[in-house]
Amino acid sequence: MSNEILEAELNCAQCQQETLHQLRYAGRLLVSTTCSVCKAQVKHESNELRIHYAKDLQHRIATKPWRLWKRFWRAPKAVFWSFPRKALGQPFKIWREYRNIGK
Ligand SMILES: [Zn+2]
Repeated sequence: MSNEILEAELNCAQCQQETLHQLRYAGRLLVSTTCSVCKAQVKHESNELRIHYAKDLQHRIATKPWRLWKRFWRAPKAVFWSFPRKALGQPFKIWREYRNIGK
């Protein structure tokens, strides 16, 4: 069975914020996640986290445009030039993450 390390932003219970986590897979199975900030490791015996993460990702996809627009209206001039590029780049980045966990 091949081991694979993926990186993704997840909520860390210890840090109480989104941090970069290392997701260790053995084949298709998620074995453990390690917070890159506090090094807290969570072992997974099921796909529980993957389901949780997929839900979290859906939530992020759903709320992201709203968050971008909110920022846009608050400072239209400052955000105007960077907005279209960010708005286009984000779904692709999320899609790449999503494809990774779906493997
Ligand atoms: Zn942490």
